[in-house]
Amino acid sequence: MSELATPEYPGLADRLAAVQAGVTEACRAAGRDAADVTTIVVTKFHPASLVRALAALGVRDVGENRHQEAQEKAAELAELDLRWHFVGQLQTKKARQAARYAQAIHSVDRARLIDALTELERPLDAFLQINLTDDPGRGGAAPAELEQLAEHALQNPSLRLRGVMAVAPLDEEPARAFARLAEYSERVRAVAPAASAISAGMTHDYAEAIAAGATHLRIGSAITGNRPEPR
Ligand SMILES: *Cc1c(COP(=O)(O)O)cnc(C)c1O
Repeated sequence: MSELATPEYPGLADRLAAVQAGVTEACRAAGRDAADVTTIVVTKFHPASLVRALAALGVRDVGENRHQEAQEKAAELAELDLRWHFVGQLQTKKARQAARYAQAIHSVDRARLIDALTELERPLDAFLQINLTDDPGRGGAAPAELEQLAEHALQNPSLRLRGVMAVAPLDEEPARAFARLAEYSERVRAVAPAASAISAGMTHDYAEAIAAGATHLRIGSAITGNRPEPR
């Protein structure tokens, strides 16, 4: 039956159902309400047809990490009722364009990006991305900059500051990294009480993220299958 829904993508419905069951189970184990957790399906490098198939299966939140690719897919699928989440590094000069199709930017990591996102046509959800590694070359703001960035975002009426975002480092237990992220989330909430969301958790660490309080999971390959080569 599930195969009928997406004949082009055999297995997609089953993988989606398996992840949904895994999220429900991780919420139960953490004593959390699954309704408080949004699963964003990261569809980067996959064609628009796969996003369409996901929408037919009831997916509403999709994530992309490259502006041009995201812009093209969002335009092609404009008639679908999808919420586009931008999760990749965003060039300042592309920011306003991304704000036209994206309902949320999860990678706000510098004041200049916040300044580029003023006077938008519609409000934009913003997550402050935090670098959980010691490598400044990785995406995200340094933890020491958090309060200042949060205050800066609060001064921009086009942005709704939702909370924090991070990717677990490759060389650290995800549970440990996400415990740090939960502390950073508290620091941001001290400045911006409404910014209580935590965007964390991918294919291999979403259960740990849920245990640490994640509200927005960004799950790709566990649902979509392996990614094709980038275009
Ligand atoms: C690709 C990507 C994901 C999803 O990764 P998977 O391991 O395939 O689940 C999540 N977050 C960001 C920022 C990504 O770039």
